[in-house]
Amino acid sequence: MYSHHSHSGQYCQHAKGSLEDMVLKALSLNYKLLCLTEHMPRLENKHLYPEELETNTSIQDLEKTFDDYFAEAQRLKAKYAGRIELLVGFESEGISPAYNNYTKQLLAKYDFDMFVGSVHHVNGIPIDFDEVQFTQAMESCGGLEQLYSEYFDLQYAVLQLHPTVLGHFDLIRLLSPEFDLKNSGVWPKVVRNVQFAANSKCLIEINHSAIRKGWTCPYPQSDIVEQIVKFGAKVCLSDDSHTPLQIGINVAKSLNYLLENGVTQFHTVTGEVVSIERFLKTMI
Ligand SMILES: [Zn+2]
Ligand SMILES: [Zn+2]
Repeated sequence: MYSHHSHSGQYCQHAKGSLEDMVLKALSLNYKLLCLTEHMPRLENKHLYPEELETNTSIQDLEKTFDDYFAEAQRLKAKYAGRIELLVGFESEGISPAYNNYTKQLLAKYDFDMFVGSVHHVNGIPIDFDEVQFTQAMESCGGLEQLYSEYFDLQYAVLQLHPTVLGHFDLIRLLSPEFDLKNSGVWPKVVRNVQFAANSKCLIEINHSAIRKGWTCPYPQSDIVEQIVKFGAKVCLSDDSHTPLQIGINVAKSLNYLLENGVTQFHTVTGEVVSIERFLKTMI
């Protein structure tokens, strides 16, 4: 088993369980590779997550937490070496050019093994948290199509940082399932981003968390998987777990979905190429 994206309650207030609990759970499920990818600190109070606002967390607290996280992740990586490959990374926030610069600073400051490049905000407003904020984000852009257009432009800016893994490609769809992306004016931007990821060897994650949130498939949906196949982009597996209980769930569902959509293998950041058909047999 492999996952390129995880969070723990020790360093993320909307997650549960210690970082070591996450590792132990992955070990119990015979994980070969687990990437530790806590959220990056935020630069401004207005970008704090709701639970961080409730606990009066400051920007300085986030920086300290991130620093503590890096040290603990390194300790666990050394402690469990030989039993599981732990890669130490983080999930970036493509909120604005300032955040992309901050990502570069973090990459220079810490010796990370990898990072997941993600977009969770448009015009600084969260697009995956709740309907109210989603509507605010949409209104700030002047409509749904414009919101999607902004989202995929922010994602394109994140891709310029060369993330190891591109996070939940079509997260923007979570709260607007009715939008017909493929037949919209935004579609060329989706194709552009897939093509860029393919050419820059950025792995596109197949993120099982969408299934947890009620989708029948992981991120991204099949129209995008079709483009991934067309341009030969590489995919990797991520459970985006926020508690040890979420590690390893819905993996078979995601793999069957990939096979149905013409993807026959997945990749790891460590360069492994795994046949999905063969892997599914070992899971039974
Ligand atoms: Zn999170
Ligand atoms: Zn995310």
